[in-house]
Amino acid sequence: MEKTGQPGRKAYSPLARAAAIALLYFVVAGLWIAFSDMLLARAVDDPELLTRLQTLKGGFFVLVTAILLFFLVLVSGRHLLKAHREAMQASRDALTGLAGWYRLQDLLGRLVGQSREQSTPMAVIVLDLDRLRRVNEAFGISTGDALLMQVADRLRGLRRNNLVLARPGSDHFVVLVAPPCDRDEAVKVASEILALLEAPYQVAGESLEVHFRAGIAVYPDDGREEQELLRAAETAVFEARREGSSLAHYRQKGRESRERYILENSLRGALARGEFRVYFQPIVDLGDGRILGGEALLRWQHPELGLVSPGHFIPLLEQSGQILEVGQWVLEEATMQAAGWPKPHGESIGVSVNVSRLQLGDPSFVDHVRRVVSDSGLAVGRLVLEVTESLAMRNPAETMARLQDIRSAGVGVAMDDFGTGYSSLAYLKRYPLDFIKIDRLFVQGIPADRENDLLMETIVDMSRRLGRETVAEGIETAEEARRLAEIGCMRGQGFLFSPAVPPERFHELLSTGGRFNLPSPGGSGQLSDVSGQSDG
Ligand code: C2E
Ligand code: MG
Ligand code: MG
Repeated sequence: MEKTGQPGRKAYSPLARAAAIALLYFVVAGLWIAFSDMLLARAVDDPELLTRLQTLKGGFFVLVTAILLFFLVLVSGRHLLKAHREAMQASRDALTGLAGWYRLQDLLGRLVGQSREQSTPMAVIVLDLDRLRRVNEAFGISTGDALLMQVADRLRGLRRNNLVLARPGSDHFVVLVAPPCDRDEAVKVASEILALLEAPYQVAGESLEVHFRAGIAVYPDDGREEQELLRAAETAVFEARREGSSLAHYRQKGRESRERYILENSLRGALARGEFRVYFQPIVDLGDGRILGGEALLRWQHPELGLVSPGHFIPLLEQSGQILEVGQWVLEEATMQAAGWPKPHGESIGVSVNVSRLQLGDPSFVDHVRRVVSDSGLAVGRLVLEVTESLAMRNPAETMARLQDIRSAGVGVAMDDFGTGYSSLAYLKRYPLDFIKIDRLFVQGIPADRENDLLMETIVDMSRRLGRETVAEGIETAEEARRLAEIGCMRGQGFLFSPAVPPERFHELLSTGGRFNLPSPGGSGQLSDVSGQSDG
């Protein structure tokens, strides 16, 4: 694969060449001066003219010498540059003896060319050594170096003859897999490498356990140019690190992370730019169709992407911690809106607000809720906070204390998405809950879906015995609504009634009766008097 040596001219030593050129110049220039002077003296009699011609001749001589000098320097400079490049291309990483950066570029270029010619895939695997810096700090640089040398030795021990091994950066190794190597094969090679590198290293009397992450990119799917491929593999490693996994690959990953990056970037400042809105989805009495409350659901109106679903951006807000600020804003906005809602049936209706894990973990959260509610003028009993099941299970003791604080502040608590996490009946009994919101997954298709029907019946019955009211999520058909009422789940929400709608529309629903006509058994799904603006 690699060319060695250069077919070329016979090599002379630089000293011999320089001496030969100087001698040649000395002879030629000396002869020229002697002969030209002699000829001139013979041909010209006038001494004044002779002096002038000699000056001219001297000028001509200097010009020729300058031109010669120019070309000499130019040619030798070019030679130097070429030699430097060749040396760089041939360069190896001094520590490990693997290919260095320049050589990697060169070999990658050749393999990509080969892939292109043969129309077969090839792969780039980037290996990232986790915490090399820690090893250096804890045991000294020489230990770190010894570790890297051992890693290189293990890589050389791979029994494959289609690999190029390189170490282009301090804690990065790159393995090129020559064509043909498709994605499956690349994953196999990467897994083999990871397994080989994973066993502890015996360095300077220490047993070091280090971890590698691998990122894979495949030509031509993940990139058609060398640099693009390398970048894709680097992105995959980054993704692996972020996910806490040891292997990541695929252009989809890269693309996802690019999209994510765009979202994350534009999320910053979205609140300040006023791009968030709070929509409300009616919560309906399944016995008579009255609107009993509204669930506040966050919407993000992105200037280019349009309406982005909370499922996409709430996890990002949680990761960056921004959810605290945004969650606070939702709470303020929802309570302020709800305080101004008309009383459709002579009494005020409730408002439910979703609360994130991070908000609930904040010790000042309950004080904050109290303050927001009192500022909005909403009667405290009208607010319900929805916490998700998975969140409640993660830190039971803290959750319990916080929920009790919320309850003692007079605010209601609902467990959201019941049935989707690791439902623990013990917690269900112990936690101070007012409502249990049963996930859409269990509502779908009842009563025809016998399994769901049985589960629903059981959950509703159990909740009633524990003194908790159930709310069904995601009701889409009249059959589901009817069946829910029949088994005693008297509250529900879903597209059958209305999606989440902008605050103006929700206000309008309340001021025009605040009631949906319940469909007759066997009737069609959609209600006649619902024409809400869809939330997409
Ligand atoms: P969730 O609290 O379980 O909200 C119900 C979700 O189901 C909403 O999705 C709603 O639009 C959707 N939905 C309602 N009825 C139907 C139906 O009949 N069929 C179907 N297929 N879906 C229905 P959305 O608005 O996309 O919200 C998704 C999740 O995002 C929410 O689930 C909630 O966990 C979270 N979320 C929304 N707003 C906030 C917020 O302000 N703060 C926090 N922390 N989380 C929020
Ligand atoms: Mg909810
Ligand atoms: Mg839910």
